[in-house]
Amino acid sequence: MQLHILHTAPEFSRDEGSPATCRRCILWREGTQAVVGEGPRGAPLMLVGEAPGTEEDRAGHPFVGPSGVLLRELLGEAGVDPARVFMTNAVKHFGYQLRGRRRMHRTPGQRELQACNLWLRRELEQIAPRVIVTLGTTALKAVLGERLAIVAARERSLAAPEGIPVIATYHPLALLRAPAQEEKSALRRTILADFGRALRLAGT
Ligand code: SF4
Repeated sequence: MQLHILHTAPEFSRDEGSPATCRRCILWREGTQAVVGEGPRGAPLMLVGEAPGTEEDRAGHPFVGPSGVLLRELLGEAGVDPARVFMTNAVKHFGYQLRGRRRMHRTPGQRELQACNLWLRRELEQIAPRVIVTLGTTALKAVLGERLAIVAARERSLAAPEGIPVIATYHPLALLRAPAQEEKSALRRTILADFGRALRLAGT
């Protein structure tokens, strides 16, 4: 089936503004620009990561850095066409700490997650995916509204408040950062299995 690809942000109501003009938390001061989700309207799968990284912040698009490249590779390997997936993050602005001159990613705090949840919920409403795949614990918390370890979450049937089934898996960054080859291979197998489950659940 041919799907219309949206390369721009979903539409947000005028009254609420948009992530581009949002000042609901302090992250707008750190990020270059808001990075909202991208993908086809009506995408069966929505992937939710944590926050844009430094490459995404510069480009203004989600998942264009090294973890995005790996993510697309893993999706392809699992039989998921990345062009049919809506990809977004729990938080829309890049937050960082300076280490020398390098901008090092900073995990968003509870206040930032809560503030930005409005935009994630709007994306969910507009895309209405059949299945949500969360990448990492921050994304899982943002979607479910409660903190759960990935190990425990993988053994449960989960659903977002909207009633959409949720598959929890690890962020590709965990695979990139894993120190040992054995750990990398195990994470890769786990993520691939979770993408496969999501695909079957979405019925695609
Ligand atoms: S991170 Fe989210 S809540 Fe915070 S300013 Fe940006 S768009 Fe608004």
